[in-house]
Amino acid sequence: MGMQLKLHMVTIEDLVPEGHFLRKLEATLDLSFVQEETASLYSRGNGRPPINPVMLVKYLLVGYLYGIPSERQIEQRIQTDVALRWYLGLDLFDRVPGHSTISQLRKRKPSFRKVFRRLFEEVVRECIEKVLVSGRLAATDSTHVKANASRASEYLVEMRSEPGAYWERLDSYEEEGLQELEKRTGHRRKKRTKQIKRDSRRSHKQVSRTDPEAGHMKRPGKPEGQYYLSHQTLDTDHGVILGVTVTPGDVHDSVPYLDHLEQIHRDVPPIQAVTADAAYDFPLAHRVLEEQGISFYVRPQPSADRTKAEFKRDAFSYDAENDVYQCPNGKELRVRGLYRSASGVYWEYWADREDCRSCPFREKCLSENDQRGARRLLDTYFRPTVRRHLTRQNEPDYLDALRKRQVWCEGTFAAQKWGHNLTRVLRRGLEAAEDHCLLSATALNLKRMIRCMG
Ligand code: SF4
Repeated sequence: MGMQLKLHMVTIEDLVPEGHFLRKLEATLDLSFVQEETASLYSRGNGRPPINPVMLVKYLLVGYLYGIPSERQIEQRIQTDVALRWYLGLDLFDRVPGHSTISQLRKRKPSFRKVFRRLFEEVVRECIEKVLVSGRLAATDSTHVKANASRASEYLVEMRSEPGAYWERLDSYEEEGLQELEKRTGHRRKKRTKQIKRDSRRSHKQVSRTDPEAGHMKRPGKPEGQYYLSHQTLDTDHGVILGVTVTPGDVHDSVPYLDHLEQIHRDVPPIQAVTADAAYDFPLAHRVLEEQGISFYVRPQPSADRTKAEFKRDAFSYDAENDVYQCPNGKELRVRGLYRSASGVYWEYWADREDCRSCPFREKCLSENDQRGARRLLDTYFRPTVRRHLTRQNEPDYLDALRKRQVWCEGTFAAQKWGHNLTRVLRRGLEAAEDHCLLSATALNLKRMIRCMG
């Protein structure tokens, strides 16, 4: 029996169902800014774009919305999927722009990438307008995204360690601390800035030949190799992602944290409280956030004690009223100095050399390299703020914030990895990785926005 062909009179409009996600998206997301952003790229005789920039954005966006991992596969899907054709403004028999045209355009016009950041920001703004973001509680976490680089491409490089990310911020706190020290002890010392810079140590790093901007990630419970990290902060009302920062995979979570949050705090409705995992519990964060009037609900980091001596920190008890430590021999350690390292500022509490000289516990208390003959304890300069925050760690709102962080952040990363291409990047370089993570976050925000609108 031969197949019977029927002729139908239909338009592409008829073929896309009323309530289709892409119809809702088209009605909600105004992409006219794309023309605006890209106008300068094509003026001054730069030639007409081989593809309309709005169509290009849509082309890439559907890849992230439907978890289509490569541009080649997006092209194939658009050929056969009527709804995708409709969204891109292509009629049933229009030629689909080839994936190589898209790649070439992205490569030839690197300034096109600011469109992706703007797109992300436009979607966040739309979510704020629809009252899906309140800033009451924002949660931060990072996830690893595989770089397009193998471990076989790695080689060892010797690096001079740079001063920490918070060098400048710490500088001004050191100055403040030195003034306080002078008031307390009558002594004034110079800043140690130059010396620390001179002392900076050398270390080794595994760099990939194929993507030198990725980083060798080695974290407990995570795969090891070349990765990027996507740091995201979301609003815990509806899970709208407010900010994305991408770093190489070997950067500690605390490094981009404060700049990342400050950008969100500036651009998005002021944030009232933030919550984060233990990796973000570092003393400076407590102080900076307090100064900005932001409550900080962070999972406390267990303190590491690197003292070689048998008597660790917990052998000493703190007397807050007099701001002194009592040692196991009943003697007092008082503030005598301020210590500055590449990544922190600390009060130095010193015991009296006379006390230690005649002390029966001397062997247990002083390590071999204690040349000054007295015990020293270091306490972060930001301790008052840290203590104010952490004394609340068992209160219901604190625990509730930690729970919300876990549920929202983990759920969001899982959704992005499963359905929005956040497992691996295809392009190389930090900028391309950032575009990738921004598009993934944009796709998730659009999904959440449209779902919230019913
Ligand atoms: S060595 Fe000094 S600080 Fe340590 S227990 Fe003895 S007196 Fe106290």
